[in-house]
Amino acid sequence: MKKALVLGAGGFIGHHMVRRLKKEGFWVRGVDLKYPEFCDVEADDFVLGDLRDSYLCKQVVDQKFDEVYQFAADMGGAGYVFTGENDANIMHNSALINLNVLEACYRRNVKRIFYSSSACIYPKYNQEDPENPLCAEDSAYPALPDSEYGWEKLFSERLYLAFHRNYGMEVRIARYHNIFGPEGSWNDGREKAPAALCRKVAVAKLKGLDSIEVWGDGKQTRSFLYVDECLEGTLRLMRSDWTGPVNIGSEEMVTIDQLAHMIMDIAGVRLKILHIPGPVGVKGRNSDNRLIYKKLGWKPSMPLRYGLEITYRWVEEQVKIALDKGLL
Ligand code: NAD
Repeated sequence: MKKALVLGAGGFIGHHMVRRLKKEGFWVRGVDLKYPEFCDVEADDFVLGDLRDSYLCKQVVDQKFDEVYQFAADMGGAGYVFTGENDANIMHNSALINLNVLEACYRRNVKRIFYSSSACIYPKYNQEDPENPLCAEDSAYPALPDSEYGWEKLFSERLYLAFHRNYGMEVRIARYHNIFGPEGSWNDGREKAPAALCRKVAVAKLKGLDSIEVWGDGKQTRSFLYVDECLEGTLRLMRSDWTGPVNIGSEEMVTIDQLAHMIMDIAGVRLKILHIPGPVGVKGRNSDNRLIYKKLGWKPSMPLRYGLEITYRWVEEQVKIALDKGLL
């Protein structure tokens, strides 16, 4: 039986990956600071532990796993990453995790390790025009990410690539573009735009309000990838012979206002949008899927609306539960 190690298995993408690997018949060990919040533990073995601790890292990488997926990071949406208040933790915690994980995997002769980088590594100067952002993989340098989160991701990409060059480790690196879906942060300060907007629309709908607040002017553009396609791309990349880094994202670019309107449509409500000051990040960002298609013969194709319908239903359910308990 093949064995996989999923680091960050209590988080959003990590626990979805555990589920997917279990369906494929893998024996899976998950590691995280916390258990998955919205579902049961599905890993065969789940270690509650801190990957900043190099001793713990070596303990959980106690064998030559067939596949290691590294999702653990100190991260969140714009409200967590772009305020500046969490910069030291974001850089320190995530860099330590990656340093420890690589050393532990190297010692155990783990051959294949996946690292989840981010579209946040792309330079700010290529993302000023909301209509024409440039996010081709080879546009990453000269580097100028707009957040410390992006700088740490870029540093860690380089770290993984150095282990590949010097020690022959088969690393696979994806630059994820806004992954969304059910069973992720929706109200803990780390939620991202799709979940946050689903929550705002659901709260307005259930409380009979007539408006929602949106950070910024709503004209900033992004693309959003449903988690199932993120997993599909990740597994295809992992089992390919392409080291990366490569974008895993959707090319269906929308403004934040368009995203909000799509969610309102799904919810069956019409609400006013009040634009308020808030952290917004770069003005435009979209996945460029030429490289992934060239290397893997595959690229994401699911319409945004499909994933949003599933996600909205799940968030509305969470909002109902929270309202019943008087928590919202
Ligand atoms: P998440 O926050 O839900 O999951 C990350 C998990 O890492 C959390 O469960 C957290 O508890 C765990 N973790 C943090 N510090 C740890 C530590 N010291 N020891 C053990 N576990 C620790 O985030 P996610 O959305 O599932 O993202 C997974 C990965 O993908 C992250 O590396 C993230 O930076 C990257 N990524 C995600 C997106 C996205 O849109 N979700 C976009 C780009 C990149």
